[in-house]
Amino acid sequence: MPNLRMMNKNGMVSKIQTRIRTDSFKNNYDLVGKELGRGKFAVVKKCVEKTTGEEHAAKFLRKRRKGEDCRMDIIHEIAVLESAMSNPFVVSLHEVYETTAEIILVLECAAGGEIFQQCVADNDEAFTEQDVIRLARQILMGVACLHHNNVVHLDLKPQNILLTSSRPLGDIRIVDFGLSRCMDSMKEVREILGTPEYVAPEVLNYEPISTATDMWSIGVLTYVMLTGESPFLGSDKQETFLNVSQVNVDYSQDVFEGVSSLAIDFIKSLLQKSPRKRATAEECLKHPWLAGHPHPHLHSSHLPSLDEPDTSQSESDPEPESPASS
Ligand code: ADP
Ligand code: MG
Repeated sequence: MPNLRMMNKNGMVSKIQTRIRTDSFKNNYDLVGKELGRGKFAVVKKCVEKTTGEEHAAKFLRKRRKGEDCRMDIIHEIAVLESAMSNPFVVSLHEVYETTAEIILVLECAAGGEIFQQCVADNDEAFTEQDVIRLARQILMGVACLHHNNVVHLDLKPQNILLTSSRPLGDIRIVDFGLSRCMDSMKEVREILGTPEYVAPEVLNYEPISTATDMWSIGVLTYVMLTGESPFLGSDKQETFLNVSQVNVDYSQDVFEGVSSLAIDFIKSLLQKSPRKRATAEECLKHPWLAGHPHPHLHSSHLPSLDEPDTSQSESDPEPESPASS
């Protein structure tokens, strides 16, 4: 962990090692294809580096947002990406450019797009439980490594978990450290951050944020990946907040048809109102649902015992399920 030193009391880092280039991004890269995605303050486009022919993703961040100078927020995002350079499940940072209005992060391109697409897809495109097991392990290894370095992401959701490829299903890359914080310096951070559907009760209640806050979001994420349904989403923000703070979750067979009871048990270990009761990332990796799968870092195509392509039984063939797991 070379450089998460210069931190202010809000868990923000102000010092980076990457040289910020002020020469023209357009001289060095061609923009190709359409947009890869966009968020609140950023547009992400595919680009090709002229000298190498390599594909990258350029994230264009406006420095002024709602009339405020947000340059230091972007510097913090860069610092966290730098600190995660050796984490194989965090998107890697290639270069940084700055213009008068923008900072451009040149990132590794995660060509498979957001896992969101497959979470909401129809049956034959949706993840199988074996897919989710492999991807959840990767997410947890990535997050365990972040937490080990005292970084909390605070915005883990299907739009910020990307895939290196979608067909065949590749590996995950965690992106978007715009809301992340460093814990050592943040004695007590209480802020309303994140996205209501994925945000933990302590955030809504203005209680201290910790690594356990991310673990809640991983519980929600796993629920969505397995069922295609968002467990707390209400018809409006108010209702969503209420569902979260009451931990109002449907674990019925209707929702979890064909999903193992171990998976449900895993989700329950994370969707605990009290942050202290939630499993840590390390503990999650030892949970029986995820433990015992060798070589989880490898692509599924390297694992003949998992994910055997079996197109004959796509929809109506749920695995036998042990009773009583509500
Ligand atoms: P924001 O902070 O505005 O949410 P993100 O970093 O989440 O910005 O990027 C917005 C979207 O752009 C993501 O949800 C994803 O669809 C796409 N995206 C971001 N980074 C990459 C990348 N490295 N490769 C491919 N697509 C990306
Ligand atoms: Mg985002």
